[in-house]
Amino acid sequence: MTIVDEVLVPVADAIDVPTDLFVAGAWRPADSGRRFEVSDPATGAVLATVADADTADAVAAVEAADAAAAGWATTSPRSRADLLMRAFDLMHERSEDLALLISLENGKSLADARGEVAYAAEFFRWYAEEGVRLRGQVGHSPSGANRLLVGYQPVGVSVLVTPWNFPAAMATRKIAPALAAGCTTVLKPAAETPLTALAVAALLEEVGLPHGVLNVVTCSRPGPVVEAMLRHRRTRMLSFTGSTEVGRVLLRTAADSVLKCAMELGGNAPFVVLADADVEAALDGAMVAKMRNGGQACTAANRFYVHSSVHDAFVDGLIARMAAVRVGPGPDEDTECGPLINDRAVSKVDLLVRDAVQRGARAMIGGRAPEGPGSFYPPTVLVDVPADARVLHEEVFGPVAPVVRFEQEDDLMPMVNDTDFGLVSYLYTRDLARGLRLAERLESGMVGLNRGLVSDPAAPFGGTKQSGLGREGSTEGLLEFLEAQYVATSW
Ligand code: NAD
Repeated sequence: MTIVDEVLVPVADAIDVPTDLFVAGAWRPADSGRRFEVSDPATGAVLATVADADTADAVAAVEAADAAAAGWATTSPRSRADLLMRAFDLMHERSEDLALLISLENGKSLADARGEVAYAAEFFRWYAEEGVRLRGQVGHSPSGANRLLVGYQPVGVSVLVTPWNFPAAMATRKIAPALAAGCTTVLKPAAETPLTALAVAALLEEVGLPHGVLNVVTCSRPGPVVEAMLRHRRTRMLSFTGSTEVGRVLLRTAADSVLKCAMELGGNAPFVVLADADVEAALDGAMVAKMRNGGQACTAANRFYVHSSVHDAFVDGLIARMAAVRVGPGPDEDTECGPLINDRAVSKVDLLVRDAVQRGARAMIGGRAPEGPGSFYPPTVLVDVPADARVLHEEVFGPVAPVVRFEQEDDLMPMVNDTDFGLVSYLYTRDLARGLRLAERLESGMVGLNRGLVSDPAAPFGGTKQSGLGREGSTEGLLEFLEAQYVATSW
């Protein structure tokens, strides 16, 4: 145990977590001494205060990562892998504490939080296994004059910026491949959920990660802090997960130093139910795709296109299932759907639902935020949603299912692909060949074919169009943190 007790602060009288910055292997307050509050979205109660970094702290963190870079890059892949494997084991040992922490600061149900911890830990194991398997190539130049020896080098200091919706998994999906590749890192978690990221850092400290390999900078005003990191001349990579809007801003800044960028951005996933679909299976999948994390997932089904022959059966089933969802504070064992992240999120969901209703949609259940404390929004099903409703074109990020009826398969693709996003699409049909044929026409990086969940550490997660650049998970996620280098020689 390397964490000294005084850095740990009890959260909600339940778990002890560090609340300072983690820089060069030490826990320390922000340079300015400022702190910001983290609150429970179910009650508004303050859970803890956390160090509020500014640009001086950002620079210190990048410099700590830079100081550790050469040592980590030359640490053997096996040693790096052993450490990641210990992190996997420890994360499982701590899974109940971590799940509760996620549930407290993010609001998601304990069941969702437990699922997230298992998913997050798996990135440590998968990259522990994958990091030692990396190999290059030996080739001949076409002229026969040269041999080409292709190998990989860590890209260097990597800035990792993560969102609040999966505070553990979005962090480990970046940390694990970066560390396996030999990169040192600065993690900037979302201001809404910094405690989980700090708990993950404490866990890596405990398994013996060398000082400076992972640094964590928490802050309430991310603009200048992230900019200072990206403009530091030792930073070589940005790995960002968040909204397309912020991603665009960061890409512009990154362009000035020609940083390598991996961008996991927003989505607008269609969920298509064809006439020959197994409606019960489609409903099971719809509930997972729509309601995991209360709809606050980039992969959340954002709009449902259902063939007219199964439309009414699907809608009836969806209403019954959505009405049965138990809404409440995430940490209550009975809760299936927690609050949204904050009141701003509730207002945005409310606005999109009102817009749809004004344009002619009907709210079959839900559709109105409840009075009282907490950032709650009820499970909502909208039918007869017109094509121009904003809810079909913008990321809802809430428990709202807008359903559109379609008649002809030919009408489907233009509707489904009519979006600037291209993260994931869901398709239900009993005819696998037809499903695969249609999947090829879907403009998205991922397709759930008769499945409502696509996330998998072994799969290349990511989007096309304005949903992002690059992939996370799988070997492709490791390659993001590596640069190919070849040596031309002859013998
Ligand atoms: P966000 O873009 O507001 O914030 C993401 C991160 O960027 C946070 O750490 C935030 O503090 C930081 N940030 C915000 N403004 C910034 C600025 N001006 N400069 C630098 N950093 C800034 O997104 P969010 O609300 O935390 O997360 C929700 C979004 O994330 C959704 O759009 C969702 O689709 C997306 N997301 C995508 C994936 C994916 O893998 N494609 C996964 C999860 C979430």
